[in-house]
Parts: sequence; structure tokens; C-alpha cells
Amino acid sequence: MALVTKAIKGTQDLLPADSYKTRYVEQTMLDIASKFGYKEIRTPVFEHTELFSRGVGDTTDVVQKEMYTFDDKGGRSITLRPEGTAGAMRAFLEHGLFNEPLPQKVSYLTSCYRYEKPQAGRLREFHQFGVECLGTAAPAADAELIALGHNIFSHLGIEDLQLEINSIGCPECRKKYHEALHTYFESKKDELCETCLDRLGRNPMRILDCKSPVCSGIAKDAPKVLDYICEDCAAHFETVKSHLDAMNIPYVVNPTIVRGLDYYTRTVFEFVSTQIGAQGTVCGGGRYDGLAEQLGGNSTPSLGFALGIERLMLLMQAQNTALPEEQRPDLYIASMGDAANVVAAKLAASLREEGISVQYDVAGRSVKAQMKYANKLNVRNTVVIGDSEIESGKVTVKDMDGGESVEMELDGFEDSYQNYLIQSAVAEIAGVEGIDMSGINIAGLF
Ligand code: ATP
Ligand code: MG
Repeated sequence: MALVTKAIKGTQDLLPADSYKTRYVEQTMLDIASKFGYKEIRTPVFEHTELFSRGVGDTTDVVQKEMYTFDDKGGRSITLRPEGTAGAMRAFLEHGLFNEPLPQKVSYLTSCYRYEKPQAGRLREFHQFGVECLGTAAPAADAELIALGHNIFSHLGIEDLQLEINSIGCPECRKKYHEALHTYFESKKDELCETCLDRLGRNPMRILDCKSPVCSGIAKDAPKVLDYICEDCAAHFETVKSHLDAMNIPYVVNPTIVRGLDYYTRTVFEFVSTQIGAQGTVCGGGRYDGLAEQLGGNSTPSLGFALGIERLMLLMQAQNTALPEEQRPDLYIASMGDAANVVAAKLAASLREEGISVQYDVAGRSVKAQMKYANKLNVRNTVVIGDSEIESGKVTVKDMDGGESVEMELDGFEDSYQNYLIQSAVAEIAGVEGIDMSGINIAGLF
């Protein structure tokens, strides 16, 4: 039995007490992205394995070690998406979105799957917010994309997140750079870890991304890609930087960033924190001008970033970032007796039609127990309906924060209560702003 009440290693539940925080953060990201022109795209959780081995690149850690790959019952090799870009690009090519006005800007919130060693900020199922700007080669797009990331973090009130940028050039400059890297690492061959020895033959740039302390120590003194990029790539990088300067977005150039996926070209960047331990990269992205062709499409210079939701939530927790309070339920209708129970259900239904959040007893409890429950729900108001209220046609709306109780007719209660909510909200704002509301009849305004 124990097995079925325990989640799989590296996976997490998001419980009701916390889910509104994640929902707020995700909604904020979608809203800001939408102001930048991004529209949501949803792609399947699984794809042909080849999409990732060709797209992400078969020399990457993701493809070599981390993918959840299996044969389905029809004998096809299927992989749970380890990231969102390949799927978004596949959809762009499959549905001919290249015929639409370019760039196409898409955003997504998705679960991703990687078979990694679970630890703080590193899960086997995690969630990403991502954006892809498909079909533009201009450096202005790189800067705008980075500005979107910056905007999201500043809007959420995240502090001490460093933006690090680099250019890893185009395949042409990369050839020369690979040679230089190869020569350098060849001379340190005896010290490299086994995986990096393999990387040396396949893709020496991957060694720069190795997490082992010895390899990363050696990588520190390796040739820097910025010394090898061609004139065009250098000019592109300069323009990106000048746009960031103009937009007042602080950054540092970190010549060691290469990113873990093969599809990147030219601009790459990360937003890094030192406050959540080793897994400090909250957001990573860059340009991937060759991906569309790698997948068999026409040349479609593009770029994007992905932001790890769990890592971001860890960071917000570490920083005690202020979040809006969870929305309180407005009203709890307690009822006593069969007739009153029916009135409560009916009243709740019509109040809900008006958009008011209301609850009533669906557990057959005593009024005392109902009020206890209402208290735990943190409702603003309660009313109690029993035989005498039905007879008199009047109920008393109690303010659970200790304010005055107000008597209202049951007949037309929906309107009276709505007015009451509006008046309370205005009074609350006036209180915060220090405005004298005496003598102003708000109800008359509605
Ligand atoms: P890392 O270097 O930490 O392994 P990565 O380069 O593999 O990260 P990307 O593939 O660029 O990461 O993914 C973008 C973001 O997704 C990361 O910056 C991180 O916030 C998040 N992320 C990646 N892998 C995981 C994971 N296993 N668990 C939780 N979040 C992750
Ligand atoms: Mg990784």
C-alpha cells in the first residue's frame, strides 16, 4: 500500500494552500508576455524521440542521459518533453505558421521531464514558463526578449538576480572555436572526468557546462568564445548590448555561458541567483537560428527563453517576496432546518450568478460547526438562516473582521449584499488613502 501513497522520486505535488501563489506568478508572466505580443501555444507532452535528438542535440546531457524515452504499444520511440522549444518549433513548421506575419511570438506554461539526480531546484518533473520569438534575425529581438525576462522579474519584485549574457557565434565561428577548445582540453585530458573525455571527441563546448568542480576549474582558463566570433556576430552582440543599455537593463558579459542545448547560436543569456544554492539559474535562453533547418524546415532565425517555475518559487521564498493575499470568500450562509437549507442553496446559486463567492453547508453539520468551518475559510461575512429568518424575511450580515452587523431583507438580498460589498471595498480604499467618506452615499451611485 505504501507505494501508492507516495509520489515518484523527483516529482512534487502543489497543494491547495500554496497553489494560488504559483498561479499568481504564472498569470503575471503570461500577462506581461501578452503585453509584449506573445500568445499562448500548447503542444503535446510527448513527441517523437527524434524531435529532441535532432533539435536539442544528441551530444547534450539532456539527450544522452536525461530523457524519459519509451516505446509505445505501436513500437514508436516516444519521449516526454524535456523542454519546450523543440515542440513549439515543430508546431510552427507543421502548421505553416511561417506564412503568418513574422515574428510569431508564442508563450507556454508546461511540465518538463528529465531523469536527473533530484535535489533542491532539480526535479524529474518540473515546470517551465517559456517564450519563443520565431522568424527574426535582428538583434533588437534579442534585447526585447531579454527585456521581457527582466520585466517579469522586476514586476514580481525579485531582487539580486544577475543577468549574464554572452555570444556563442554562428556555426562558422564555432568551427574555429571548437578547434581551439579541442587543443586546450586535449592538453588537460588526464584531469577531465569520463563524460568530458567523451565530450572532447563529440562537442568540446559541452565541457564548459560540466558541473564537476575539476572540469569547471579547467574550463575557467579555456579559450573564450568571444575571442573567436566573426565580425557579423560581434556586431550583432554589440547591438544587443546597446539596446539593453538604452533600456537601462543591467547585465554582465559572462564569456563562459554556453547553455546546455545544442541549438543555440549567437546571443545566450541566463538570469542567475546566488540565493538558492547550486541550482542558481532561474531562467536561460538565447538565439537558435539553425533549429528550424535542423528539423527539416526552412531557415527561420528565432530565439527564446525558459524559466523554471519551481526554482523561481524557491527564490521568492528565500527572498520572502511579497505576494498578494489569497482572495477571500465573500459569504458563508449557515442554515438550520430543512426549509432553511433549501433557501441557503437557492440563495447561494443566485449570488454565484452575480459573481459573488459564497459557500453554504454541504456536509449536514450543526450551525455551530458550520460557523467554525466558515471561520477557517476566512470568509468576510456570514449570515444565519433558520425558521425565524424565513418567517421575518430578514437576515443579519455579520462582518467577520469585527465590523458592524447589517440587517438585510431576504427579498432582493443579492442586490443589497452586492451594494454592501461595494461600499465596504470603497470604505476600505478610503481608509487606506485617508479620504473622508462621511456624507457620501455610495449606494446611490450604483
Ligand atoms: P541546469 O544547468 O541547472 O541543469 P539547464 O541548462 O539544463 O539548467 P535549461 O534547459 O536551459 O536548463 O532550462 C531552463 C530552466 O528550466 C532552467 O534555468 C531551470 O530554471 C529550469 N530547469 C531545468 N532543469 C530543471 C530541473 N531538472 N528541475 C527544475 N528546474 C529545471
Ligand atoms: Mg540541466
